Amino acid sequence: MLSLDVPQYASAQKLSQTYRILVVEDEEVIRQMLVLALQEEGYDVLWAEDGRSALALIQEIEAASNQPPIDLMLLDLMLPQVNGLDICRTLRYQGNTLPILIVSAKASETDRVLGLEVGADDYLSKPFSMRELVARCRALIRRQSFGAGSTNTFRKFRDLVLYPKECRVVLRGEEVNLAPKEYRLLELFMTHPRRVWSREQLIEQVWGMDFLGDTKTVDVHIRWLREKLELDPSQPEYIITVRGFGYRFG
Ligand code: CA
Repeated sequence: MLSLDVPQYASAQKLSQTYRILVVEDEEVIRQMLVLALQEEGYDVLWAEDGRSALALIQEIEAASNQPPIDLMLLDLMLPQVNGLDICRTLRYQGNTLPILIVSAKASETDRVLGLEVGADDYLSKPFSMRELVARCRALIRRQSFGAGSTNTFRKFRDLVLYPKECRVVLRGEEVNLAPKEYRLLELFMTHPRRVWSREQLIEQVWGMDFLGDTKTVDVHIRWLREKLELDPSQPEYIITVRGFGYRFG
């Protein structure tokens, strides 16, 4: 069950200070308690009740051009379908740097360490006080939005890492030499993982509105990029052709 259509909060007050939190929790009582407490703090709250819909919701929001991004995820570990640790692993493997706070009844040291090892940013054991929870949420969002953490300084997908501030790309540990338009294309793809782009949209984003060539230019640049990035350019793993639409990353 996805919660994109929650009427009271879906498109309500988008103040610049309204941060968006995704609560992933299968126990309804706890979920409602978390959602209400965070809404009272002024957060824009979405929720999912199992692992698969959480991943689907994150993907849907990232792919949509009119959805504000999620700033933090509260994640239970024991969830139906896909468990919390696998959600962390999946997101980090896809290069997603969304801050994750694990909120779990599994309180052992091992779970805590494992959670942080698979890429969660913090861990809170149940039972916890709402004050503590809200304080942790605030701290994580602050860390992310002020860019103090290292999470925002690069984007990673499989063996490919992009450093936006340095306009640099490293593949399997080695620097890749990209022409400016190739770099811009890749940066656009990697900042919107799995979003499908039409050739016209790519032209507009990378070449600009006054570009006079045709959309074949996009295909040519994609081919060059694939030759530089893919192990087998005829079976691409990074830049995927979406028949009838265009291209997507990952
Ligand atoms: Ca649970």
